[in-house]
Amino acid sequence: MSGNLLSINFGDHAQYIAIEKYKGSERYSDVIALPTKRVDTVYTHYVQGIGHFYCLTAKAMIESMGKGESPVISPRVCCKDHESAKIRYVLPIIQYTGDVEKGYGMPIFIKHLFLSERPYNDLKRKDKLKGGNLHKFDILVTCEDQEYQTLKFDIIDEGAKFLKDKKMQAIIKAGLKAYDELIESSIARTIDEQKYLEESTKLGHTSVGLLEASDDPASFDPDSLSKQLEAGDPEPAPDEPDGEEGDIVDDVDFEDMFEK
Ligand SMILES: [Zn+2]
Repeated sequence: MSGNLLSINFGDHAQYIAIEKYKGSERYSDVIALPTKRVDTVYTHYVQGIGHFYCLTAKAMIESMGKGESPVISPRVCCKDHESAKIRYVLPIIQYTGDVEKGYGMPIFIKHLFLSERPYNDLKRKDKLKGGNLHKFDILVTCEDQEYQTLKFDIIDEGAKFLKDKKMQAIIKAGLKAYDELIESSIARTIDEQKYLEESTKLGHTSVGLLEASDDPASFDPDSLSKQLEAGDPEPAPDEPDGEEGDIVDDVDFEDMFEK
């Protein structure tokens, strides 16, 4: 036994290993709620072949802020090789089963919302409209573009269902505990500079890798190299699609956790 297999009794369920990211669909709307006021900001890069990983510059910034130092940080290698890190807002949510017309409720699932500035501001405005009590209401989520996860939020004006349901509250309490432990590793990889350079050089992403790849004198063209270095990677879409490829963990059945 190498520690990768966990034997369980027949009928038992697997443990949570990740907090799933909420994904909207163009085909149907969902009902969610924000059971707490917790918001985390994260700074990540997405690089094909490496995946989502936490920005090394932001890590240095957060560490120096933790020590009470003023966060004047020079950009680390990930920010030099690629466009600057994306800032995202991460919020714990519950997702109900069902829809507004036919009714919604149990089972509920703990997931996270992964938002850019615009939809986060939209939620902030809606919170203000409700006098800072958005977490007491259920929210209808519609998705206008599945690939880019363009989400629209509408408040359902009756009070949130979970507030009147003891069973849901027990599930939320357990789910939020798992959320605490797993959210960081669910969002992105944590890699240090050495690991970053190792993987990037293999992929030819880093400037170090580019220089090494061009040391054949016959093909060396200083002009084209400097242009390459300035241009960086070809610009993808304004925001990378929130597709399957970017997810480090998928297909986790969260229903199982709650059925004990
Ligand atoms: Zn970075």
